Amino acid sequence: MKKIKSILTVSLMALIVLSCNKEDEAVPTNQESLKVTPEVLSKMKSLSLNTSDVQVIQNTTLEGTTEDAFLVEGDIVITKDQLDKMDLHGGITTEQYRTTNLVSAPRTIRVVGLTGTGSSALSTNMRNGLQAAINRYNNLGLSINFTLTFSSSTSGANIVVRRQNGSAGGVAGFPSGGNPYNSVTLYSGLDSYSTNVNAHVAAHEIGHCIGLRHTDWFSRQSCGQNSNEGTAGVGAIHIPGTPSGYDSTSYMLACFNSSVTGAFNANDVTALNYLY
Ligand SMILES: [Zn+2]
Repeated sequence: MKKIKSILTVSLMALIVLSCNKEDEAVPTNQESLKVTPEVLSKMKSLSLNTSDVQVIQNTTLEGTTEDAFLVEGDIVITKDQLDKMDLHGGITTEQYRTTNLVSAPRTIRVVGLTGTGSSALSTNMRNGLQAAINRYNNLGLSINFTLTFSSSTSGANIVVRRQNGSAGGVAGFPSGGNPYNSVTLYSGLDSYSTNVNAHVAAHEIGHCIGLRHTDWFSRQSCGQNSNEGTAGVGAIHIPGTPSGYDSTSYMLACFNSSVTGAFNANDVTALNYLY
């Protein structure tokens, strides 16, 4: 997820990068880079992903290596392999929304917040925010719960949370094979925000890791956009007890502002309890 103001900057940067690529045909020959083809967009649309701003990014894996991956809805990482394997199996669940894949429950998810001296070590604010987010999930008494350790080793982790240079926000991905997505990146721009904002972004990205979609994926209204693409003809199933319209305080909105606290609203709690 991104701070609202950064969206324009990112779009401009994307434009600049795109125009640079047009000038520069020197594509590395040892690795076929990912492309946002019409086929890719069509598949994403069929999965009711918002395709208005799909980018290719360098994603850091659990082991710390990098790979090309798609970035969707501002903060969701999807590898080509994941995209190929994703299927709807009868429609996504809304509202709040989830992906087709969830984490197999009951289970304990081991989260490691990276520490140490490297650039991927979390700041104090990020660590405090992550701890607050984990506590909030565990306080719900869901069928999944989390352990959190801070370590310079990723050994045994199901989700590694690391820091990277960038504008305020974070990225994560969706579950696969019954496992949570294994990586959350928190960007250094969060340093100028409160622990509450850091807690919000940590909770939001973990929300993706366990299968939650953006509450406003259809409009990105929280980002000041209006890009409703409907449900792409695949339907959407309402989570009982949550609103069908725009939910202005959901922690799973696509964009955040500086006043967020990281707390779940009543609908978020209903959705989490429904899924887990
Ligand atoms: Zn998000």
